[in-house]
Amino acid sequence: MLASVLMDGDLYSIRMHAGRHGDHLCGAERLVHGPELEAAAAALVRRALAHPRGQAESLRISIDRLDLSQIVRGRLPDVRTLAVADFHAGRIAALALLQRAGVAAAAAQAAMASLARGAAPGGVSMRGAMLVGCVSGRRFEPDRARGVRASRMDLAPAAAAALGAALSRHGLDNPQVREALVLAAKVLAAPGIVAELCWSDDPDYTTGYVAAPDLGYVRISELKPRGEERGGRAFFVAEDAWDPQRLLAFLQDVPFLAEDIGTVFPPGENL
Ligand code: AMP
Repeated sequence: MLASVLMDGDLYSIRMHAGRHGDHLCGAERLVHGPELEAAAAALVRRALAHPRGQAESLRISIDRLDLSQIVRGRLPDVRTLAVADFHAGRIAALALLQRAGVAAAAAQAAMASLARGAAPGGVSMRGAMLVGCVSGRRFEPDRARGVRASRMDLAPAAAAALGAALSRHGLDNPQVREALVLAAKVLAAPGIVAELCWSDDPDYTTGYVAAPDLGYVRISELKPRGEERGGRAFFVAEDAWDPQRLLAFLQDVPFLAEDIGTVFPPGENL
């Protein structure tokens, strides 16, 4: 279905960014065809106005037509869920997974410490992700408040339906999981990326994840204490084999469409 639609019509990136008290509140985005833009904009506005950290005071919607020849097509990572007793255990599990993915222990620990104290200046959450050297733990993002934002990605309609069905079988079908999976798929497809670590800035959402090409997407039931508003992402880069300009161009500008989903394993399945 999508192939014919892609040939028939223009595809647009639609992005929402909402702020409150001068700070970033939330953002979300889709890739849609012209006739779907209006409904997509309405859904993004609704979402900004119902955010758990408060109601948006400013809201921006950007729409850009995409060059179809530039679209990169990919697959979502497999999904596994690790249940842990508390966020301390969760961070120990995240450390072990990141090391398996090739991140040095000190680099993983430094990234977790930054996320825990708020990785942006002033000890608040960044709007995007840190870029962290997987050996040195050095931070490379050009702007420590904005960070690097992965953008222009979505799921093809057939993949969205398949993902909804696969996630619901395990009670996991919620917007956080769906959107984070698409984001992780794009990040893992980016040149020079070794792994990703994430926990949310939503105070009620304590689950986070580690994703890496060989591990897939591993949800960890607790990665921060409930009520904590500081969250963030670290994109770990292979310092000896990355080209910063190429990586940033891919993450920010190249449209990425996930056309296939991975396997969704039942929570508790061994890694
Ligand atoms: P969320 O999972 O939406 O609660 O986001 C958690 C954190 O991830 C945010 O506080 C940001 O630091 C970061 N983040 C959110 N969206 C993106 C994105 N598109 N690209 C990079 N980092 C992001």
